[in-house]
Amino acid sequence: MRSRILVLGAGFGGLELATILSDALGEHAGVTLINDSDAFVFGYSKLDVMFGRVTADEVRLPYAAIEKPGVRFLRETVTAIDPEARMVTTDQGSHEAEILVVALGADYDLDATPGLATVGSEFYSFAGAQRLRDVLPTFTSGHAIVGVCGAPFKCPPAPSEAALLLHDYLSERGVRDDCSISLVIPFQTPVPPSPDTSAALLEAFSDRGIEFVAGRRVASLDPARNVAVLDDGTELPYDLFLGVPKHRAPAVVLESGMAVDGYVPVDSRTLETGFPNVYAVGDVATVGVPKAGVFSEGAARVVANALLARAEQRGQPDSYDGRGSCYVEFGGGEIGRVDVDFLSGPKPTGTFQEPSAELVAETRHFGASRRARWFGR
Ligand SMILES: Cc1cc2nc3c(=O)[nH]c(=O)nc-3n(C[C@H](O)[C@H](O)[C@H](O)COP(=O)(O)OP(=O)(O)OC[C@H]3O[C@@H](n4cnc5c(N)ncnc54)[C@H](O)[C@@H]3O)c2cc1C
Repeated sequence: MRSRILVLGAGFGGLELATILSDALGEHAGVTLINDSDAFVFGYSKLDVMFGRVTADEVRLPYAAIEKPGVRFLRETVTAIDPEARMVTTDQGSHEAEILVVALGADYDLDATPGLATVGSEFYSFAGAQRLRDVLPTFTSGHAIVGVCGAPFKCPPAPSEAALLLHDYLSERGVRDDCSISLVIPFQTPVPPSPDTSAALLEAFSDRGIEFVAGRRVASLDPARNVAVLDDGTELPYDLFLGVPKHRAPAVVLESGMAVDGYVPVDSRTLETGFPNVYAVGDVATVGVPKAGVFSEGAARVVANALLARAEQRGQPDSYDGRGSCYVEFGGGEIGRVDVDFLSGPKPTGTFQEPSAELVAETRHFGASRRARWFGR
């Protein structure tokens, strides 16, 4: 099957790209959007599901709802990518593209952390968050570890949020005094580009008696002894482990020859790969920005504008600026915001906005506006 624009992956990047092209070109957009699952789930919804604040069904956005002129959604699993020929094989057949956009996100490598697959307690996949939702009510005393197994990982504030929300969850159940919480993270501060955000988080940890173990990652778990082994050999016993697995590009991308050091290198201004008419956007690419939906979306906008400029025979539009805003949940209904800029200066910078009622409303708008734009509801 031949497509004008073939987009692999319907996450933040793929959905935003397909939406912009459909809005601009209508029936002439010529987009085929391929994804293996039948529904989209916002990353932050995994925390809500794990802590039982919403049900899994409430946060699933079925792709069947997408009705966009010029966009054909196919539920297929990509099994091979030939970037030279822009040929893609799936479990249903093969696709040839004039323009290929790889937006397959980052996958999890549980085997990279011995013991993690056996313990099975990670909250970064939707299935993992649902499993932990059923485990959490059984935890009433002992030591809980929120542990990161490798960097880079998606949404750098998310492990800090998980530790703070765990504090609330245990307090609400009246068992907080019988439990201790440690956060293990391979950074020196919770959000390195923003000292103010990090200071606010460290203060929140200290106020709530959460231990912050800086500059370490969980290297392995020993399920027989319930012990997490850190990369310096330190052993931390646990009664509950909430893990962030090591990330990597999906296997089909690694096998395609497009990846270098685990991800797809791109020109960070244009998102072009080294292969003509092949782009990579979002978590699957090495751009020099964090792995987060807002950055995937921003990269998709740049590619969409470039494709529109090409269709309209205009010059190259603005290049990618690597800016994005992430909301940070402190617990107790408090939400702050960090605005980060990764590419315009000599080093990344971040500005912190204190938690406020306006930011709570803004987060709601963040999800609702995307749901409306991408899914029409
Ligand atoms: C707990 C948690 C909290 C988060 N909170 C936030 C937040 O508050 N703000 C924020 O901006 N980001 C947040 N994120 C990060 C955000 O979810 C990701 O960075 C974002 O989804 C990346 O977008 P993407 O389009 O690059 O990839 P994805 O959204 O991961 O999309 C990739 C798509 O490709 C599909 N796919 C993969 N392999 C195949 C294949 N072989 N065949 C077909 N389809 C395939 C996948 O099913 C997926 O739908 C959070 C993540 C987590 C885990």
